[in-house]
Amino acid sequence: MVPMAELQSVLESITNEARELFGQGQVANYIPALEKICGKQFGVAICDLKGNIYQAGDANTNFSIQSISKLFTLIQAVQIYGEKLWEGLGREPSGTRFNSLVQLESEQGVPRNPFINAGALLVCDRLESRCSAPNFQLLNLLKSLSGNQQLTVNQIVARSELEHGSRNAAMAYLMKAFNNFHNPVEKVLESYTHHCAIEMNCIDLVRAALPLANQGQCQNGDLVLTSKQTKRINAILATCGLYDEAGEFAFKVGLPGKSGVGGGILAIYPGHYTICVWSPELNQAGNSLAGMFALEKLNELLHFSIY
Ligand code: GLU
Repeated sequence: MVPMAELQSVLESITNEARELFGQGQVANYIPALEKICGKQFGVAICDLKGNIYQAGDANTNFSIQSISKLFTLIQAVQIYGEKLWEGLGREPSGTRFNSLVQLESEQGVPRNPFINAGALLVCDRLESRCSAPNFQLLNLLKSLSGNQQLTVNQIVARSELEHGSRNAAMAYLMKAFNNFHNPVEKVLESYTHHCAIEMNCIDLVRAALPLANQGQCQNGDLVLTSKQTKRINAILATCGLYDEAGEFAFKVGLPGKSGVGGGILAIYPGHYTICVWSPELNQAGNSLAGMFALEKLNELLHFSIY
């Protein structure tokens, strides 16, 4: 364990350096409501296994979790389906853009993994089959894991994404054409976009993800996942969590992680910490530019890495 004072001072110096990168990336613009966010923000939070929080910068500012929600819908689906979830869903990195359609067609409607859009839509389809109110249930899971009962969905972002979600709809219909999607597409798209539009801050997210660093166990001792399920989800995060930049992320950061186009990246250091960075300007691959820098620095300065 890194001494508390050292961890805090490293976070502060990384925050100062990360701010110098403002202006080098671009805020996501394919969802109009996200384009309005001020890009010049940076926050970081770390939670240790005892629940102590270390933070710097804009760690208390809420942002759109976007694809980070895919991690939590996967947790829910694993809880409900166990091994059966993997029927019709792969566990290989895709090496393609998060919303690519090409691979899905050539691989008969079986998404490569649960963290690309097609795979996450399939997970939402499976949840739709078993949950009476998927929107409400995911929000509730996040409230209970983060300990923050005030979490909400930004309805403007959800609507904006639904109105500009033709590619996601195309993926869902393609899977339906291959008999790998069971519920009405519009219904599933609605819950998927609601999940993406949930707003949380870095502190909420490090708390919510803590079981992944702690063999599936919450702070209060409740088991969210078995230790085997936890290891497996971390393995998929490490190989597939950053889309076509997963290799680069393993190389530079060395942790299982999940990014979102809202500019958040949530990373797990099993047995030690959960880490969340947020900065809305994205790099070419659609991942937070200053966020990637900050996580790379944590590896360099404090040897946070599973390798
Ligand atoms: N809501 C976004 C989409 O489906 C999520 C993408 C992301 O965060 O990577 O396009």
